[in-house]
Amino acid sequence: MKRFFSLIFLIGVLLCGCAKASEPVRQTVFCMDTVMDLQVWGKDAEAAIQQLTNKLNTLEHSWSATNPDSLLSRINRGEAPELTQEQAQLLARIEALSQRTDGAFDPHLRALSEAWGFYGEEPSVPSPEEITAALAQSQWDLGAALKGYAGQECADLLAEWNVDRAMLVLGGNVQTYGEKPDGSPWQIGIQNPDGGDNLGILCVTGTASVVTSGDYQRYFEVDGLRYHHILDSKTGYPADSGLRSVTIVCRDGLTADCLSTALFVMGLEKAAEFWKESDDFEAVFVTTGGAIYATEGAVLSGCSYEVIAR
Ligand code: ADP
Ligand code: MG
Repeated sequence: MKRFFSLIFLIGVLLCGCAKASEPVRQTVFCMDTVMDLQVWGKDAEAAIQQLTNKLNTLEHSWSATNPDSLLSRINRGEAPELTQEQAQLLARIEALSQRTDGAFDPHLRALSEAWGFYGEEPSVPSPEEITAALAQSQWDLGAALKGYAGQECADLLAEWNVDRAMLVLGGNVQTYGEKPDGSPWQIGIQNPDGGDNLGILCVTGTASVVTSGDYQRYFEVDGLRYHHILDSKTGYPADSGLRSVTIVCRDGLTADCLSTALFVMGLEKAAEFWKESDDFEAVFVTTGGAIYATEGAVLSGCSYEVIAR
């Protein structure tokens, strides 16, 4: 009898282990201070998803700004730990993206985020002196870049496995991989900053990163004023650019993440100019007035919006 139950149990495990072609293997992971939802379709989905989880945890372990044992914390303490080529390359690419955006994306604002209390339980408005002191420091914070990089790394890993496609939701970041069997595009909702139904649907084909930065993702309120976590290094205050959110579609995850933050800080007008001079991304903007703007290569449905053309 015992053996019979064991056999049933074993068959059960085996059935769970091999995903049907049409059903994804799905896993939820808490990593990088956010909930991640991983869905992978295909023969090797189970094994691939395990490797993705390991990758995400390894990246967090290296680049967390809050874990005192992380590589990043050691660099921030003035130590000079040895970096792998991949790690050195990541920091160099991040610096280059900061330069490309003229500092709107600034990966050295850790002390400023800390002064606002965004790392802790009780954020509060710092004094002007505290802001000046924090701006004078230059400590790494990859909070605006790491999830995008991680999504890209995951997509690159998936290419080494026999998997058909994947949809990875890493907090406000979406990484798609591969094509849907019927050739239809992936559909990604543009969130309403005030909650409720999505404002519209963004369609993307194949492997892409879709990253949103918004003032509704992390914030606190004092006396009816909202203070959010995307900071302007020119003022030391939350960026007050007239935007509620920016969504970037790009073939490269790191670029998508850095640009979503940068264009949020820039505001619509500057961001549109920046897009006109670029050729590697599309963008969707939601303004404080509730209007939606999209660059001409972005495929949006389910909402009315104004097209930004070259
Ligand atoms: P989220 O982390 O919600 O996905 P972002 O990608 O826009 O949103 O990153 C915001 C985070 O990046 C902040 O929590 C902070 O750690 C850091 N940060 C804040 N302002 C900037 C900035 N101007 N440039 C780069 N990083 C920033
Ligand atoms: Mg970002």
